Amino acid sequence: MTFLTRFAPSPTGPLHLGHAYSALLAHDMSRARNGRFLLRIEDIDQSRARPEWETAIHDDLRWLGITWSGTVLRQSERAPTYAAALAKLWSRGLLYPCTCTRRDIETAAAAPQEGAPPHGPDGLIYPGTCRPTRPVTTLPYPTDTALRLDLRRALASLHSPALGFHETGSGPAGDTGGINITQASLLDTVGDVVLLRRNMGTSYHLSVVLDDAAQGITLVVRGQDLFEATRIHVLLQRLLDLPTPIYHHHRLIRDENGKRLAKRDDARAIAKYRAQGATPADIRAMVGL
Ligand code: GLU
Ligand code: ZN
Repeated sequence: MTFLTRFAPSPTGPLHLGHAYSALLAHDMSRARNGRFLLRIEDIDQSRARPEWETAIHDDLRWLGITWSGTVLRQSERAPTYAAALAKLWSRGLLYPCTCTRRDIETAAAAPQEGAPPHGPDGLIYPGTCRPTRPVTTLPYPTDTALRLDLRRALASLHSPALGFHETGSGPAGDTGGINITQASLLDTVGDVVLLRRNMGTSYHLSVVLDDAAQGITLVVRGQDLFEATRIHVLLQRLLDLPTPIYHHHRLIRDENGKRLAKRDDARAIAKYRAQGATPADIRAMVGL
């Protein structure tokens, strides 16, 4: 099996040390295995994506010594594939429109029970306000509201209940090796995730799953912050008959206060270190490679 990995940044800000670590690690791993390293631009959020950030990403990666095979996949050019997958799930009765605002969800989720309402990888677990007893399945599906996955129905539609993936890095709690995903844990900690964002044509989870499959990715290298999201991705792969790659979740690069670096954290932007005269080897040392 050819080893294929990728780096998938969103062009919504400068690449910082955390991105450099992720890209260098994936690139090193593909080199070590005689594999291929691909680049994907995750620009589904057209309100935040900017061509100049995309150019800066290419420039920073080249400067770091990272080269990629083939053409760059841009999510903004993949709308028909996303629509086809949504149509498939919709006609199987696994999606429903949701018009709730964030505030509606907070109010409904906070209602009777004690303590903090449960959170999943996308924020509050959806309390199910808009979930229909009988789903509409006639196409076309609506695109002017969010569409959520009916998790209970989706799980019931699986031919075999076993879900899991192989982890060669580790999750935030040190989980490694064969990771089992129970249906109960999905119901408790994931819930009815949004697969179509209003007026966006897709969502992060759906696009990542379809694109990793389209690019033939065999190993996904990415930060531990996405470990929980991986459980959603494995479920979507099963629902859409796509292969599950191996995952390698890596440690996060933190600032001196232990806080994870964010996109807006321009202080750790690679461009800034470059302007100060740092070399690619300095960046490698800074991230512990
Ligand atoms: N685009 C995502 C990010 O920049 C990464 C997606 C992924 O690795 O699956 O955080
Ligand atoms: Zn709703």
